[in-house]
Amino acid sequence: MVVDTDLVILLQQCVKARPKPAPPRRKRNEITKENNRMCEIAEVYKIDKTKARKPHKCRECGGVIAKGEIYNRHHGVFDGSGFDSRVCLDCDALRAEVDKDKPSVYDQTCVEELGEVVFGSGNTGLIRAFITNKRKRGAPVTDWQAALLEELERPKTQGDAP
Ligand SMILES: [Zn+2]
Repeated sequence: MVVDTDLVILLQQCVKARPKPAPPRRKRNEITKENNRMCEIAEVYKIDKTKARKPHKCRECGGVIAKGEIYNRHHGVFDGSGFDSRVCLDCDALRAEVDKDKPSVYDQTCVEELGEVVFGSGNTGLIRAFITNKRKRGAPVTDWQAALLEELERPKTQGDAP
Protein backbone atom coordinates (compact mmCIF):
# COMPACT_ATOMS: atom_id res chain seq x y z
CA MET A 1 0.00 0.00 0.00
CA VAL A 2 1.34 3.38 -1.01
CA VAL A 3 0.78 6.16 1.48
CA ASP A 4 0.50 9.63 0.04
CA THR A 5 2.32 11.71 2.66
CA ASP A 6 0.86 14.95 1.41
CA LEU A 7 -2.64 13.54 1.76
CA VAL A 8 -1.94 12.32 5.30
CA ILE A 9 -0.67 15.77 6.29
CA LEU A 10 -3.70 17.38 4.68
CA LEU A 11 -6.04 15.03 6.58
CA GLN A 12 -4.27 15.75 9.85
CA GLN A 13 -4.68 19.44 9.23
CA CYS A 14 -8.37 18.90 8.48
CA VAL A 15 -8.84 17.03 11.74
CA LYS A 16 -7.07 19.78 13.65
CA ALA A 17 -9.10 22.48 11.94
CA ARG A 18 -12.40 20.73 12.48
CA PRO A 19 -14.50 22.60 15.03
CA LYS A 20 -15.27 20.98 18.35
CA PRO A 21 -18.38 18.80 18.35
CA ALA A 22 -21.57 20.75 18.78
CA PRO A 23 -22.67 21.11 22.39
CA PRO A 24 -25.88 19.38 23.46
CA ARG A 25 -28.92 20.99 21.92
CA ARG A 26 -29.90 24.15 23.74
CA LYS A 27 -33.29 25.63 24.19
CA ARG A 28 -34.35 27.74 21.26
CA ASN A 29 -34.00 31.08 22.97
CA GLU A 30 -30.61 30.61 24.51
CA ILE A 31 -27.06 29.82 23.60
CA THR A 32 -23.98 28.92 25.54
CA LYS A 33 -20.68 30.26 24.32
CA GLU A 34 -17.73 28.51 25.90
CA ASN A 35 -18.37 28.71 29.63
CA ASN A 36 -19.97 32.10 29.36
CA ARG A 37 -23.72 31.92 29.59
CA MET A 38 -25.44 34.22 27.18
CA CYS A 39 -28.94 34.84 26.01
CA GLU A 40 -29.11 35.32 22.31
CA ILE A 41 -31.65 37.93 21.46
CA ALA A 42 -34.84 36.57 19.97
CA GLU A 43 -36.39 38.23 16.93
CA VAL A 44 -39.62 38.53 18.84
CA TYR A 45 -39.86 38.18 22.61
CA LYS A 46 -42.97 38.86 24.60
CA ILE A 47 -44.00 38.17 28.15
CA ASP A 48 -47.75 38.20 28.67
CA LYS A 49 -49.47 37.93 32.02
CA THR A 50 -52.04 35.23 31.40
CA LYS A 51 -54.73 33.58 33.50
CA ALA A 52 -54.52 29.80 33.34
CA ARG A 53 -57.68 28.30 31.88
CA LYS A 54 -56.43 24.87 32.89
CA PRO A 55 -53.49 23.65 35.00
CA HIS A 56 -50.07 24.06 33.41
CA LYS A 57 -46.54 23.00 34.27
CA CYS A 58 -44.04 25.77 34.97
CA ARG A 59 -41.04 25.45 32.63
CA GLU A 60 -38.64 26.59 35.35
CA CYS A 61 -39.57 24.84 38.61
CA GLY A 62 -41.56 22.04 36.99
CA GLY A 63 -44.40 22.69 39.41
CA VAL A 64 -48.08 23.23 38.83
CA ILE A 65 -49.57 26.50 37.67
CA ALA A 66 -53.13 26.06 38.95
CA LYS A 67 -56.26 26.76 36.96
CA GLY A 68 -57.20 30.40 37.45
CA GLU A 69 -53.68 31.41 38.50
CA ILE A 70 -51.90 34.28 36.76
CA TYR A 71 -48.64 33.20 35.12
CA ASN A 72 -46.15 34.66 32.63
CA ARG A 73 -46.21 33.35 29.11
CA HIS A 74 -42.79 33.88 27.52
CA HIS A 75 -43.23 33.55 23.78
CA GLY A 76 -41.87 34.76 20.50
CA VAL A 77 -39.60 33.77 17.66
CA PHE A 78 -36.02 32.70 17.95
CA ASP A 79 -33.86 31.78 14.98
CA GLY A 80 -36.96 31.46 12.83
CA SER A 81 -38.80 29.13 15.21
CA GLY A 82 -41.55 29.92 17.65
CA PHE A 83 -41.15 29.32 21.37
CA ASP A 84 -43.73 29.39 24.11
CA SER A 85 -42.89 28.81 27.78
CA ARG A 86 -45.28 29.09 30.70
CA VAL A 87 -43.57 30.27 33.87
CA CYS A 88 -45.07 30.74 37.33
CA LEU A 89 -44.79 34.20 38.91
CA ASP A 90 -42.68 32.80 41.77
CA CYS A 91 -40.01 31.68 39.29
CA ASP A 92 -40.03 34.99 37.42
CA ALA A 93 -39.72 36.84 40.75
CA LEU A 94 -36.70 34.66 41.53
CA ARG A 95 -35.29 35.37 38.05
CA ALA A 96 -35.59 39.11 38.76
CA GLU A 97 -33.69 38.55 42.02
CA VAL A 98 -30.99 36.51 40.23
CA ASP A 99 -30.64 39.16 37.52
CA LYS A 100 -30.90 42.28 39.68
CA ASP A 101 -27.20 43.12 39.28
CA LYS A 102 -27.05 42.20 35.59
CA PRO A 103 -27.99 45.25 33.55
CA SER A 104 -27.05 43.67 30.22
CA VAL A 105 -29.71 41.49 28.68
CA TYR A 106 -26.90 39.23 27.44
CA ASP A 107 -26.03 38.29 31.03
CA GLN A 108 -29.54 37.76 32.21
CA THR A 109 -31.07 34.38 32.90
CA CYS A 110 -32.70 32.85 29.86
CA VAL A 111 -36.11 31.32 30.15
CA GLU A 112 -35.90 27.62 31.09
CA GLU A 113 -32.41 28.18 32.53
CA LEU A 114 -33.40 29.42 35.98
CA GLY A 115 -32.74 26.15 37.81
CA GLU A 116 -29.32 25.74 36.24
CA VAL A 117 -28.35 29.31 37.14
CA VAL A 118 -29.73 29.09 40.69
CA PHE A 119 -28.02 25.80 41.54
CA GLY A 120 -24.85 26.95 39.80
CA SER A 121 -24.77 30.14 41.86
CA GLY A 122 -24.09 28.36 45.16
CA ASN A 123 -26.23 31.07 46.76
CA THR A 124 -28.07 29.56 49.74
CA GLY A 125 -30.94 32.07 49.65
CA LEU A 126 -31.64 31.59 45.96
CA ILE A 127 -31.40 27.81 46.16
CA ARG A 128 -33.65 27.71 49.23
CA ALA A 129 -36.24 29.92 47.50
CA PHE A 130 -36.20 27.75 44.37
CA ILE A 131 -36.54 24.48 46.29
CA THR A 132 -39.28 25.95 48.49
CA ASN A 133 -41.20 26.96 45.37
CA LYS A 134 -40.70 23.53 43.79
CA ARG A 135 -42.08 21.85 46.90
CA LYS A 136 -44.97 24.30 47.17
CA ARG A 137 -45.94 23.55 43.58
CA GLY A 138 -45.51 19.79 43.80
CA ALA A 139 -42.42 19.57 41.59
CA PRO A 140 -39.83 16.88 42.30
CA VAL A 141 -36.73 17.95 44.20
CA THR A 142 -33.86 15.64 43.31
CA ASP A 143 -31.57 14.12 45.93
CA TRP A 144 -28.58 16.21 44.86
CA GLN A 145 -30.63 19.42 45.02
CA ALA A 146 -31.82 18.64 48.56
CA ALA A 147 -28.30 17.56 49.56
CA LEU A 148 -26.78 20.76 48.18
CA LEU A 149 -29.16 22.92 50.20
CA GLU A 150 -28.54 20.85 53.32
CA GLU A 151 -24.80 21.25 52.83
CA LEU A 152 -25.10 25.02 52.38
CA GLU A 153 -27.33 25.40 55.43
CA ARG A 154 -25.10 23.31 57.70
CA PRO A 155 -23.41 25.58 60.26
CA LYS A 156 -19.75 26.02 59.45
CA THR A 157 -17.49 24.38 62.01
CA GLN A 158 -14.12 25.86 62.84
CA GLY A 159 -12.37 22.64 61.90
CA ASP A 160 -10.98 20.02 64.21
CA ALA A 161 -8.53 21.96 66.33
CA PRO A 162 -6.17 19.65 68.26
ZN1 LIG B 1 -42.14 27.96 38.55
